[in-house]
Amino acid sequence: MACRPAPSPDRPPRPATPLPGPLAWVDDGLDRLRQRDLIRPRRVRSGRQGREVDLDGRRLVNFGSNDYLGYAGDVRLTKAASRAACAEGFGAGASPLVSGHGTTHAALEDAISRLLDVDAALVFPSGFAANAATIAALAGSGDLICSDARNHASIIDGCRLSRATVAIYPHRDLAALDRLLAGAGPGRRLIVSDTLFSMDGTIAPLEGLCELAARHGAMLLVDEAHATGVFGPRGAGLVEARGCADGVHVRVGTLSKALGTAGGFVAGHRLLVQWLEHAARGWIFSTAHPPAVAGAALRAIELLGEEPQRRSALLDAAAEVRERIVRQGIGADGDTTQIIPVVVGSAAAAVGLAARLSAAGLFVPAIRPPSVPEGRSLVRVSLSWLHTAADHDRLTAALGEHARAG
Ligand code: PMP
Repeated sequence: MACRPAPSPDRPPRPATPLPGPLAWVDDGLDRLRQRDLIRPRRVRSGRQGREVDLDGRRLVNFGSNDYLGYAGDVRLTKAASRAACAEGFGAGASPLVSGHGTTHAALEDAISRLLDVDAALVFPSGFAANAATIAALAGSGDLICSDARNHASIIDGCRLSRATVAIYPHRDLAALDRLLAGAGPGRRLIVSDTLFSMDGTIAPLEGLCELAARHGAMLLVDEAHATGVFGPRGAGLVEARGCADGVHVRVGTLSKALGTAGGFVAGHRLLVQWLEHAARGWIFSTAHPPAVAGAALRAIELLGEEPQRRSALLDAAAEVRERIVRQGIGADGDTTQIIPVVVGSAAAAVGLAARLSAAGLFVPAIRPPSVPEGRSLVRVSLSWLHTAADHDRLTAALGEHARAG
C-alpha cells in the first residue's frame, strides 16, 4: 500500500474510520472495558499543579497527584533544570554506557547513595524501568521470586521478564511467604515488595521480610516509590524509618513522586550496582534521562535536607485527616500514611464518588481494575504538604456527605 505524506500541523480533525481488519479486535476489547465501567478518559491539565490543579478547564483542590511534598511545581526545581540544560544541553543523546552519563547524572547518583547511606546508586529513566530491569537482572530461569499480591505493575512485569518461577503471596502474609521460601529449590531466591503500597496505603512488614530473607538466604528488593522523601529522618524512605537498611539488599525508589521530577533509581552495594550496569537491559539499552531532569532531582534531594518540616507536617496531617475520615464511619483502609484509599467496591461506585467530589471542587481520582483487584475500586486521597487546614476540612466534609451517600 502507498504511504501518504505526513499531515500538515493545522489539519482539521480526522473523520472517524473503521479499524483496519487486523486491528478489529481492538474495538471489541474497548467495548468490553466500556461494559465494565473501565474506560479511562484522559483529562488535560493546564499550567502548573500544586495545591490546586486545573483539569479540563476546572480548578480543583488537588488530592490526586503524588506530589506529596509540593515540589513538582516548585520554581527552584525549574531553575535547577534550566541550569543543567544550559550546561549540558537538553537531550542525553545516548545510553549511559555510551555517552549519555553526564556530570549532573553522576552528581545525582552520588546524592542518592548519600541520602540512602549505601555504596552506590543507578538512575533509570523511570521508576517502572528501574523495577522491571532490576528484577529481571537478579533472577532467571530456575530461580524463585516471591512477590506480594499487591505489588506494583512494574514489579509484576519485572517478575515476568525474568523467566523465574514467580510465587505470589497474599498481601503482607509473612507465614505464607515463609512456606514458599521453605519449599524453594536450589536456585536463587528473591523477595520483592513495595514498602508503601500505593493503592492500599499499607506498609510492608519490613522487619519480618528482612528476617525471612536472612533465614532463607534470599535477596530482598523493596520498592520505596511512595516512601522516598516522605518517611525516615532524612527522607530516605521506610527502610530508613524502620532501621532495616542492613536487611534489605536492593532499594528501588522514584524521583517522580515526592521528589517532584522524573526517573527511578536502584541503590545498594557497589558490586550489585556494577552487576546491574551489565545486566539491567532497561538501563543499558535506554537513553539516559535528560540532564535537566537530573538537575531538578538533585535540587529536590537537597531540599529534602533543607526542609525536613515538610515531611513531618505531611505525616502529622495524614494521621489527623485519616482519623477524621474514619470517625465519620467511612472505611479508610491502610496504615497512617499520606495515601488514604476510600474503598467503595464497584468501578461504577468509585467513578460516581469521584464525580461527586469533583462537583464539590475536589480532585480525588477513582482507581479501578487493573490498578486494584476486581470489587476493590476506590477513590484515592493523596495528601500533599501544600494542602491547608481548610482543604482538609473540605475533604473530610465532602467525604462525609458523599462517600456515605453511596
Ligand atoms: N513503583 C510504584 C509502587 C509506583 O506506584 C510507580 C508509579 N506509579 C512506579 C514504581 C513507577 O515509577 P515511575 O512513575 O517513576 O515510572
